[in-house]
Amino acid sequence: MTAALSHTSRETGNSLNSSILEEIRSGRLENLAAEEILTWALGNFHPRMSLSCSFGNPEGLVLLHMLTRLEPGARVYMLDTGRLPQETHDLVDRVRDRYGVEVEVVFPEAEPVQKMVRQHGQNLFYESLEKRKLCCRLRKVEPNRRYLAQLDAHVTGLRREQNVTRTDVAKVEIEGRLVKVNPLVDWSREDVMKYVRENGVPVNRLHQRGFPTVGCAPCTRAIEPGEDIRAGRWWWENPEDKECGLHVGEEQGGSGI
Ligand code: SF4
Repeated sequence: MTAALSHTSRETGNSLNSSILEEIRSGRLENLAAEEILTWALGNFHPRMSLSCSFGNPEGLVLLHMLTRLEPGARVYMLDTGRLPQETHDLVDRVRDRYGVEVEVVFPEAEPVQKMVRQHGQNLFYESLEKRKLCCRLRKVEPNRRYLAQLDAHVTGLRREQNVTRTDVAKVEIEGRLVKVNPLVDWSREDVMKYVRENGVPVNRLHQRGFPTVGCAPCTRAIEPGEDIRAGRWWWENPEDKECGLHVGEEQGGSGI
């Protein structure tokens, strides 16, 4: 299924060929539906492509459902930060049983996390934006960067309406040496939940208890009716700061991927 990736791109530094680059830059992929985008991505990048699934957002599970129907050997990974709620771990096992997929669980490096906790305490993220970002960097961004170094492409469940930081995300983007595939960018929350219901997609049990999105336990809380769906994530911070660094550039302290 993998396309012949013959020419190395000077811009991306990997084996992307020029016709794939041209197709991405043309904007034609913006007209494709989510499953068509995934079919295109599998055809070009599998098995050097993996779905980033947090198991805390229904978007990742919708994509997992679509991907494994298109390609049973599709790769899926999650970041285990060491601070996830039990409901998220339970969902990983439910998904393994239901889809027969081997979820690649990625852990942070022990030494820098131990040093951070020794210096700043277990709950440093509540003390300042700088310390919260340090924790996200060591527990999420750096393990993610290490994992992605072996790939040519990754798939995310980003949607434009999720946050003020995500309004201009394209369906397929080139970031550094990687292709980032975002098939659900133009879906609404209602579209996602309708797909979940109609296809019996397993989702995190905390959604039923007022958590529309689930991240690390100490940084996620339930929301009140009418609140923005990301209001429960890092609720003590301003909306423009609410990114863990996985989806912003290096100049903003992110992964640059
Ligand atoms: S979400 Fe909170 S606990 Fe998780 S990595 Fe970021 S700051 Fe640390």
